[in-house]
Amino acid sequence: VRLHTRVAAVKPGAQTLVLAGGETVPFDYLVVATGAGPRLPKVPGLDVEGVFTLRNVSDALRIKRFIQDRRVRRAVAVGAGYISLEMCEAFRTLGLETTILESEARPVMRLPEDFSAKIVEEIQANGVTFTPRVRLEGFDRSPSGIFVHTGNGPVEADIVLIATGVAPEVKLAAEAGIALGGTGAIAVNDHQQTNLPFVYAAGDCCEGYHRVSRKPVYIPLGDTANKQGRVAGANIGGQDVTFPGIVGSQCFKVFGLEVASTGLTEEEARQAGLTPVSATIQGVSRAHSYPGTKRLWLKLVADTGTGRLLGAQAVGAEGVVARINILAGALAGGLSLEEIAYLDLAYAPPFSGAWDPVHIAAQQLLK
Ligand SMILES: Cc1cc2nc3c(=O)[nH]c(=O)nc-3n(C[C@H](O)[C@H](O)[C@H](O)COP(=O)(O)OP(=O)(O)OC[C@H]3O[C@@H](n4cnc5c(N)ncnc54)[C@H](O)[C@@H]3O)c2cc1C
Repeated sequence: VRLHTRVAAVKPGAQTLVLAGGETVPFDYLVVATGAGPRLPKVPGLDVEGVFTLRNVSDALRIKRFIQDRRVRRAVAVGAGYISLEMCEAFRTLGLETTILESEARPVMRLPEDFSAKIVEEIQANGVTFTPRVRLEGFDRSPSGIFVHTGNGPVEADIVLIATGVAPEVKLAAEAGIALGGTGAIAVNDHQQTNLPFVYAAGDCCEGYHRVSRKPVYIPLGDTANKQGRVAGANIGGQDVTFPGIVGSQCFKVFGLEVASTGLTEEEARQAGLTPVSATIQGVSRAHSYPGTKRLWLKLVADTGTGRLLGAQAVGAEGVVARINILAGALAGGLSLEEIAYLDLAYAPPFSGAWDPVHIAAQQLLK
């Protein structure tokens, strides 16, 4: 492993890499795993001291050192996706006054509206100011910190985190003639092979095949990156391994709330040309009578014609990820609502009711 070594170019014809220092490195096979970078807003002042993005552990340590050294009191996060929400929890844990500025009407826009509202309730209950529909205009130094200029006037901060999404890091690949897909990430087949047979790609720089929409998608996540990397390596090593694709499962925690989803949302199902129906239930994490049981909300989306499950989203204080993982399995297996409604799930009162929220939601949608 050669650390602090940047690859400046790939020469597919010669099967060599050119390093930033000019050194040439030959290869028989190449795996492109260049990851993703922050998608930055096109505004002035991104280089103002105290304005950060977060991609890796080094960034996290830089942010932590800045907070300690500069006695930071006021944090502003731009964007209200999962990275911003997780960071706001960290800022509040450190005792910082914390504000989220979001251009849309609500956080995590792909979630159902009432689920986003629960996230807003949770962050506000934990002292975060949430400001929706903000037009970001740029950053400037202020006498005591940073001005975040917005359409509604400036907001003052000591530290700013920009978390407005990520984009695949594909410059190296594109310049080498490695084909990109419609999402802008590197296109790969089910062996993680690119259009150049001796070049593979894995992780945040490449697309994944969505098993529900049956389309290539860009959902950059760590567990997918691991699996794609293993498949690429196994195939280069002489095995014949196929990556079946993803169902788009994801989760995060913000303060006392678990948030998770798998498959398609109702809107995504429509965009994929399907005709979805949905049902949302309020359930409980353990048996009703069991001490400490918590409320959770689960939405199921299914295809009107076939009754096939298309996706699920859930929020709640406990047991949310466990339910979504069951439904991720159901999606991968192509289960119908009838099958899910009577699925043999493990039951004991500390973990669920005899009828789990998964069963109840499926029965509800069948009505
Ligand atoms: C704050 C945060 C929280 C996250 N939380 C989760 C989570 O809870 N669950 C989850 O599933 N995912 C999570 N993710 C996403 C997850 O981290 C990524 O999906 C995963 O790291 C992707 O792995 P990768 O190897 O493809 O890319 P990376 O981990 O980004 O690695 C790419 C590497 O390539 C290097 N590189 C790029 N270009 C060159 C070049 N030209 N020459 C040499 N080296 C180069 C980069 O420096 C980098 O080290 C999170 C991401 C962030 C930022």
